[in-house]
Amino acid sequence: METPLAPGLYIVATPIGNLGDISTRAASVLGGVAAVACEDTRVAGKLLSHLGLKRRLIRYDDHASDETRAHVLNLAAQEPVALVSDAGTPLISDPGYRLVRDAKAAGIMVTSIPGPSAAVVALTLAGLPSDRFLFAGFLPGKAKARAEVLAELGAVRATLVFYETSPRLADALAAIAEVLPGREVAVARELTKRFEECRNGAPADLIAHYTAHPPKGEIVLLVGPPGVTAAQEHDVDALLLAALAMSKPSQAAAEVARVTGLDRKTLYARAMELK
Ligand code: SAM
Repeated sequence: METPLAPGLYIVATPIGNLGDISTRAASVLGGVAAVACEDTRVAGKLLSHLGLKRRLIRYDDHASDETRAHVLNLAAQEPVALVSDAGTPLISDPGYRLVRDAKAAGIMVTSIPGPSAAVVALTLAGLPSDRFLFAGFLPGKAKARAEVLAELGAVRATLVFYETSPRLADALAAIAEVLPGREVAVARELTKRFEECRNGAPADLIAHYTAHPPKGEIVLLVGPPGVTAAQEHDVDALLLAALAMSKPSQAAAEVARVTGLDRKTLYARAMELK
């Protein structure tokens, strides 16, 4: 029989797509806690039933009321309580920061059971410098704020790692093309799942690719540090066709000239041929 777990808060990382990635220790801790605090009780319930477990579930996120947080902390002071998020490592663009902070302040034991996090998995696949990286969560949704964040972080000598969603990828790539045009970018998608891919290129090439093949699923977007530039392999026709789908030839030529640095008149002539 295993030794019972001590009271406290157990931060438990869970898979980001492939259930086989749950660690032996994570499974054993989830089997030994009295309750599991989670973002979504249905998602946590599925993971537990995959492990053959049934545990008391408490819905918790960082917007939870002070009462809910106090309730989780009271329990953790007397019994072992796990915190899981929907996927990956809690606190990494997920709830938990305030809970851990308050638990430490209250003298409650806090320990972490490490496991997958999409940011680190992406970094291991991107082939971009990994000695220094800056994880910056999600880029802002508004164009001005997004450009400001990219300009600020673009000066840092580190690979930048962002979380993204497929509907927002085009806007994020367009902003990178505008603010950090020469940089090598990697789009890491559906990590640990059946359609996992990690595609590298210049922002303009990735725009052309994902316009032709709209992405599905979850995405980590990485931007190489200053000095790491992508081999520019502009497929000019693909870029023009993508731009022509939304704009007049003159605007399409101007847009493609902006992201590629190619001559606008030449691009306009080619846009007229393609049209
Ligand atoms: N805590 C999680 C972690 O440690 O990775 C991240 C949670 S955050 C709310 C969700 C974002 O993580 C997604 O929008 C996506 O950017 C990224 N993500 C999660 N799973 C992923 C996967 N399998 N492939 C690519 N990105 C993923």
